[in-house]
Amino acid sequence: MEGFDIEFIKLKNGIHNLTFEVKQPFFDFFQNSDILSADVLIALEVSKLDQMMTVDLKGTGTIILTCDRCLEPFPMNIQTDFKVIYHFNALETVKEDTGDLKVDVCYLNAATYKVNLAESIYDSFLPVVPMVKRCDELSNTSCQNNLLQLLDSEDEKDQNDVDPRWDALKKLIDNKE
Ligand SMILES: [Zn+2]
Repeated sequence: MEGFDIEFIKLKNGIHNLTFEVKQPFFDFFQNSDILSADVLIALEVSKLDQMMTVDLKGTGTIILTCDRCLEPFPMNIQTDFKVIYHFNALETVKEDTGDLKVDVCYLNAATYKVNLAESIYDSFLPVVPMVKRCDELSNTSCQNNLLQLLDSEDEKDQNDVDPRWDALKKLIDNKE
C-alpha cells in the first residue's frame, strides 16, 4: 500500500521521528473485516546505522469493532507497539519469520533504497484485536443484547399476563446480584 514508505537512502545515520496516520482505507486494503473503521496515529522512531535500521512503531487511537453479541459497532481505544529490524546489503530481499508477533526482521538487497511499512503496521494491529469482541467489556457501551434487558422487554409486553417462568428466572438473577 502506498504512503507508508521510508526512503532510507535519504536519511543520515542517527534517530529520525516520523508519523503515519492509519484510517479505514488501510484495513479495506488488507481486507480485514474485523476492523470497521480506524483513527490511529503511528509514531515511528527510526534508528539508522551503516548496515541496519531499526523502526519502533507506537500506535495510539481508536478502532471500531463489531460486538460479537449485539452485532453493534463500538469503539475501542488501542495502543500498539511493534519493531521492525532491517538489515542492509543482503544477497536477496527476504522477510524472516521471527515467530514473534511484535517484531519483523527483513533483509534488504544492496539495490534497495526504500522500505514500505504498510505490512508491518498491519501486523502491529493483529495482537491488539481481541478474539472475543464484547462492547460492554471493551468500551463503555452497554450491550444491547443482555439477558436482563431481554427479560425487561418481555415484562413490558406481558404486564397483565406474566409468564411465571420469567418470574422465576428473574428471581434467580436478582439473587445473584
Ligand atoms: Zn454488544
